[in-house]
Amino acid sequence: MSATVGNSAKEAVTRPLLELEHLHVTFGDTVAVNDVTLAIQRGERVALVGESGSGKSVTALSILRLLNDAQVSGSIRFDGEDLLAKSEREMRGMRGSDIAMIFQEPMTALNPLYTVGDQIAETVVVHDGVAAGEARKRAVALLGRTGIAEPGKRVNSYPHQLSGGQRQRAMIAMALACRPRLLLADEPTTALDVTIRAQIVDLLLELQRDEAEKRGMAVLLITHDLNLVRHFAHRIAVMERGVLVESGPVERVFESPQHPYTQRLLASRPQRTAVPVLPISPVLLEAREVSVDFKTKLPGVSGWFRSGRFRAVADATVSVRQGETLGIVGESGSGKSTLAMALLGLQRTAHGEIEFQGRALGSYRGAEQTALRSNMQVVFQDPFSSLSPRHTIERIVGEGLALHRPQMTPQARRDKVVSCCAKSASTGRCCGAIRMNSPAASVNGLRLPALWCWSRASWFSTNPPARSTFPSSSKC
Ligand code: ADP
Ligand code: MG
Repeated sequence: MSATVGNSAKEAVTRPLLELEHLHVTFGDTVAVNDVTLAIQRGERVALVGESGSGKSVTALSILRLLNDAQVSGSIRFDGEDLLAKSEREMRGMRGSDIAMIFQEPMTALNPLYTVGDQIAETVVVHDGVAAGEARKRAVALLGRTGIAEPGKRVNSYPHQLSGGQRQRAMIAMALACRPRLLLADEPTTALDVTIRAQIVDLLLELQRDEAEKRGMAVLLITHDLNLVRHFAHRIAVMERGVLVESGPVERVFESPQHPYTQRLLASRPQRTAVPVLPISPVLLEAREVSVDFKTKLPGVSGWFRSGRFRAVADATVSVRQGETLGIVGESGSGKSTLAMALLGLQRTAHGEIEFQGRALGSYRGAEQTALRSNMQVVFQDPFSSLSPRHTIERIVGEGLALHRPQMTPQARRDKVVSCCAKSASTGRCCGAIRMNSPAASVNGLRLPALWCWSRASWFSTNPPARSTFPSSSKC
């Protein structure tokens, strides 16, 4: 008898923390994850890499059973327990406390209506059953641990009052609030500046080492940044079109990749393909000494009578010739997007001149202005806020054509939309005619808004949420 007890205790220590066996996930006819077998040991840092649409996020979400419209088969064992056999109530008890997740875009996981402190404290109250005052103290300590300056003040901030890096730190604090044994990090640094990215990676590394020593916390890091993999992970697993094509220790895979896809992935370094523009090319866009000011609220009584001023762009002079690509780089908050909005005529300027094809932007009126709009287009940084998850890809992409080319027949417009999507799709399979009718919310990389609404309500609570956690914005 004692031998059996001894054996099972030994097994518990040596068996992997997470075991995926023959995991298969489909959405209708789409196979997102195909026969994936992967194990993660206690204290291990595993990187899951692969191009967009290869099934990385779906794999992570299936571990937490957060895919509500998918067919999942195979086995997912966490510390020996079969997760697919658990009830939804049991899973809610595990999310956050045993397995936590951080996302690429913290705004999709943080509730805009509550302070970050409230959201971290809520997690602690629900899972650890501590009193509200104690939970708040822990929230401040956790924020401090992630390196946020003045955590006692920041705890009262709403997500939109924090910078991208601070929001990501707040989400890491929330994920670690209940000391999970497995942390799933889905592209946690992709949306951040290069400098902030390095800080967040170092933070994750430091926290993981600390937690691994105390509790053996393991991390599954989803990323397409191979430098990050080399710096962070013990082991790498490579996915291609839903299939796990190769896995092994980072040094071994980087030195001698076996699978052709891994070899291509490791060999793919950005190549400079831009050819210089001819000096005789006409200047298309010219901006001279453009400045943009934003109003700010002054503290105290003086704020009742007048507002302050923040100069977001100061005396920027740029020109772009026909056929030229101009890169504008700078840290978060340095004014890149504001300058771009000013160049498009979408942002009021404090002073300076902007000309398109030799004419001041302000002189375009009526039909000319409409024509100008179709000649100057913008691709936004965050597809979540720029694409409505309620509309189909066909409607979103075709909207501009319907406005600027009203003479086009519906069929011609549809053909144009399909060809544009095919051009922009890296693999040629995630867009195309079949996906045209998909709501934006279900297309890879765009489906999180829907998930946000769904998961926020059930994420950390063991009961249905007592208050509405849905934002009033158009995202839902
Ligand atoms: P990755 O994270 O590697 O970029 P994903 O795991 O998000 O890729 O997606 C894998 C595949 O599953 C893609 O083809 C994607 O379009 C599809 N997919 C993901 N979520 C859904 C969903 N909710 N409904 C339909 N298809 C989906
Ligand atoms: Mg993904």
